[in-house]
Amino acid sequence: MKILPFRAAIAAAALIAIAPASYAKDADAPVTEAELADHIRILSSDAFEGRGPGTEGEDRTIAYIVGEWAKAGLEPVPGSATPWLQGVPLVETQATGGSATFKAGGGDLAFDDDGIVLTGRDASVSLADVPVVFVGYGIDGAGRVNADVKGKLAIMLFDAAPFGKDLPRYRERRQMLADAGAAGVLVIATDAVPWWQLREAASRTTTRLASAKAGASVTGFLSPEAADALFKRAGRDGAALGAAAKAAGYKGALLPVTADITATATVRAYQSNNIIAKLPGAKPDGKAVLFLGHWDHLGICAPDDPKDRICNGAVDNASGIAVLIAVAKRLAGGARPDRDIYFMATTSEEKGLLGAHWFADYPVVPLSDITVALNIDTIAISPRGTPVATIGRGKPAYDAMVRAVAGELGRKIDDDGEADPFIQRQDGWALGAKGVTSLMVGGSFSDMALLEKFLGSDYHEPADEFSDKVPLGGAAEDADLHVALGRAFADTQRWPGKAK
Ligand SMILES: [Zn+2]
Repeated sequence: MKILPFRAAIAAAALIAIAPASYAKDADAPVTEAELADHIRILSSDAFEGRGPGTEGEDRTIAYIVGEWAKAGLEPVPGSATPWLQGVPLVETQATGGSATFKAGGGDLAFDDDGIVLTGRDASVSLADVPVVFVGYGIDGAGRVNADVKGKLAIMLFDAAPFGKDLPRYRERRQMLADAGAAGVLVIATDAVPWWQLREAASRTTTRLASAKAGASVTGFLSPEAADALFKRAGRDGAALGAAAKAAGYKGALLPVTADITATATVRAYQSNNIIAKLPGAKPDGKAVLFLGHWDHLGICAPDDPKDRICNGAVDNASGIAVLIAVAKRLAGGARPDRDIYFMATTSEEKGLLGAHWFADYPVVPLSDITVALNIDTIAISPRGTPVATIGRGKPAYDAMVRAVAGELGRKIDDDGEADPFIQRQDGWALGAKGVTSLMVGGSFSDMALLEKFLGSDYHEPADEFSDKVPLGGAAEDADLHVALGRAFADTQRWPGKAK
């Protein structure tokens, strides 16, 4: 139990005294830090093993969230094949070995893992005498593939193309080259990301949706030194090639080199789940509000660490799930909103927003019916009184609504835009890409110093554990804000549901 400080108790008593009876009866009880703490403590306990998708930790997480949502009064989505759950089929790949030999007039050139890392798409890949083409950034100024890569090994630069804004980043460019028929794509590391970091990233398991387009049969990274040595063996100057590639009309250069490549990997298919529930509206008009937040975290992330092998994900994102539970209790327990409200706990956000992408591809409610998606992620960062920032802002009617609702709760708006760069790092991005207005609203991304402090310390480490040091004041306030936002966006009188 939490004891109200003396002054707050007086203020609360005064409020009750002056509020009209109907207001007092209909008002949602404020979300308390204690109730959030209870959920976070359980979800981030070692028993949940860091909530890795496809693990026993997932089963426990599902049981807990479904249990809490059912208690709150939410229902499974009618007609779903697996009540409360949406299966998300995944494929996990772990590179286990690889070699590359480049054959040129001047003799063979082979690199060890100081120079190259390779990942095969399938369990065993073997390519022989593949032509090698340097493609620069792999695209032209219009963002189209710039060279004939069919059946070839494409060598591409990591950095963003310098000849346009909003051009695809290297992952997308790598996929575009695969779609254009490249047998393999090697990315030349950049000075911006240290080689050892790329090498380490490539040696980790990667997970994709089973429905995802297949990549090239081999992908990997070349160190800048290895790339230079390869160009030199081909009789070309790496610096000159790099300079030529800066032109928007660059068409690539076929090198007088062929490659023999082998790569092995363990490939595992398994299923994880989005958890989806519905609060049927009192006067549904065909529009719906969607609350979402990811339930997954990194699981047993440090298996060899004798001190702590579990990334518990207390802040990221047990805190968001705690808020989703608290919000569901208020909205289902109080006056019933007009519109249907959906609650979704997504899987595999940490692996690339995969659960959210799956939902966007296979929505249980038509995406065009979702008037707003409100994502809640990493919310236990700030104290009470932190202004409200919105990731995904920019649509005037929505921004005005957030401003109005926040104002009603006495919250200030922070619209300096500092949080905007995080837009691609959260589940709302997957829905936004399909035209759903997706907002992430709250205080956690308002005070950048606090957010950066978390991102630079406990974030994605075993140290992201629950303790009384985790600030919950801002999270409780943000939970109240989401209750109010849910009511406002689900109110057919207040929100037309079709605003642009
Ligand atoms: Zn994370």
